[in-house]
Amino acid sequence: MLRLAAFRRLALDPPLFWKLTVPMTVVVALSTLGSLTSLRAAQRTEALFERLSRSHRRDDRAISEVSASHLRHYLALSRLLQLSDPRTASQAAEALNRREEERRAAVRLLLRRLRRAPGAIEVALAHGPIGGGARPAQELALQHERYTAIASAALALLDRGDRLGATTLTEHQLRPVLAEMTEFTTALGAREAEGSRLLRESAQRHQRFDRWLTLALHAVGAVLALLISLLVARVLARRMQLLVECAAALGQGDLGARARLNTRDEFGALAQRLNAMARRLTRLFGAINSQHTALRESEQRLQAILENSTAAISLKDRAGRYLLLNQRYADLIGLPPGDVVGKTDDAFFAPEIASALAVHDRAVLEGGAPLSVDEVYACGDDAAVFLVLKFALKDAEGQPYAVCSMASDITARKEVERLKGEFVAVVSHELRTPLTAIRGALGLLEGGVVGPLPPKARELTTLARQNTERLVRLINDILDLEKLEAGKVRLDARPVTVAQLVARTVGPLAPLAHEAEIAIDTGAIDGELELTADSDRLIQVLTNLLGNAIKFSPRGTTITIAARPLDHHRLRLSVTDQGAGISADQQGLLFRKFQQLDGSAARRQGGTGLGLAIARAIVEQHGGRIGVESAPGQGTTFFFELPREQQAYEI
Ligand code: ADP
Repeated sequence: MLRLAAFRRLALDPPLFWKLTVPMTVVVALSTLGSLTSLRAAQRTEALFERLSRSHRRDDRAISEVSASHLRHYLALSRLLQLSDPRTASQAAEALNRREEERRAAVRLLLRRLRRAPGAIEVALAHGPIGGGARPAQELALQHERYTAIASAALALLDRGDRLGATTLTEHQLRPVLAEMTEFTTALGAREAEGSRLLRESAQRHQRFDRWLTLALHAVGAVLALLISLLVARVLARRMQLLVECAAALGQGDLGARARLNTRDEFGALAQRLNAMARRLTRLFGAINSQHTALRESEQRLQAILENSTAAISLKDRAGRYLLLNQRYADLIGLPPGDVVGKTDDAFFAPEIASALAVHDRAVLEGGAPLSVDEVYACGDDAAVFLVLKFALKDAEGQPYAVCSMASDITARKEVERLKGEFVAVVSHELRTPLTAIRGALGLLEGGVVGPLPPKARELTTLARQNTERLVRLINDILDLEKLEAGKVRLDARPVTVAQLVARTVGPLAPLAHEAEIAIDTGAIDGELELTADSDRLIQVLTNLLGNAIKFSPRGTTITIAARPLDHHRLRLSVTDQGAGISADQQGLLFRKFQQLDGSAARRQGGTGLGLAIARAIVEQHGGRIGVESAPGQGTTFFFELPREQQAYEI
């Protein structure tokens, strides 16, 4: 059933190749067949006429022969009748009889041939009457018999010696028969010639007809081929035109255009594909349009944020060239945004500021983590301090390709902080001297310099000394931090190995750890690992981290100090404990001033809440960053990352 349908489809609307080939083949085959047929017919007619013409010539010769032999016989008979010598007459009669035999044989042969096959005469008669009507063979036979009978009778009379009777018979009867026969053979010859002529003409007519037939067949074939070609070309051109129009409309963006062609050939298939493609394009363009709208809206939103933000926002590529900046940032530089894009900081800032900005950008690009730093932007005489959040934009492979900076002007806040710091420093400094004196006096009292104290008084003295010591520590920390923040601390950067730093940190804290029954593991540190830094300051950082770890670790646990290079330029040190850990929401508060996390454990330890803030200030002054990784119940790791070459990063 399926096959029948497929066959019907193929027959009704065959593929293009068959559509073109089959009609042409039929026309050419017909035309060739016609030519061959007419050629063969012409050849056959020609051969037939040739054969008949040969037969005619033979018949003609034979008829002349018979006629001549009768004449010869008659002349011989006449001469015989004139001979007077009986002996000579008898010899002549013998000779005549002999010739008579030959003549009869010739006549018989001719008659036989005439009867056996139709000669030129019959064919000519069949093609048209040429006079007479009796069959020539019968005529000839009858005349011959009459001649033979009269001649025999004349000879018989001569034999009986009736010369007069024989002569009379010959003269009055045989001679008219001979004349009749001669007339008949002449007429026969003429008929043969006429027949031959007619035959030739007929052959010529046939040949002409065949030629015209051949020509006509070829002409019909050619016209037919031309008509079919025109028809097929017209149909194909129309279909092609439809497809071209549809493709052109699609090309001009008219996605509703469709090729209305339902044929089952290649054009139909092409139209279907074209329509399917148009439908897909419509869907695709719809999706692209809505994406484009969404993108435009999102871009407008971003643009609004950029333009209305109080932060100065910029985007720089890996080479430090500005890709984008908002008006606030452009105001900072003092140029329109268009004049800034494509240039680097060297074009706008003093070399030391440009290189400081470059150091921070590079730290973000290489480290991958966001950075929050204070940066000074000074153009001309104006200088402003900004708190800048820097983060890297990454491509699909996760490779950073640009640095985004969001800078908030904190010049005023910095000034207030500076004044506050100075005030605190003055107050602290003023407090430190009397407090030191109080601590010394309390120590002496406690040591029994003025005599043994009663237990209650001694207890109170000890408490007072401890609190005074804590107050001194606090004041020292405040003064330290103030100096760091005010940039009054100059780094004394020298090459040092990490192993040395760690040893000088662990040594003083070892008794404390021992007392708390805590082990310190530094085994994994590479002895060769070296960096250029201010050793005393880094030891201060490490001491704070290790001290905190000891404070917040349960007994019997281990603290691990580790160090590893991050890449050629930077390394990372970490202090990991097995303490209670810090929840994620509290981790953000750790590095602020006077932060002590809620929870009895932290408060109980009696710190100042400034240690981590000081550590952060020192690390950042080295061009590094400090951080924490922790989860409740899983211990805590404090780490800091530093550039190995300090000079390059010194601000
Ligand atoms: P303090 O002098 O109080 O230790 P820090 O700035 O050094 O001040 O620490 C701030 C707070 O961070 C601590 O009071 C404590 O709550 C928390 N902290 C610091 N280190 C750890 C640690 N290793 N484990 C748990 N909490 C810690």
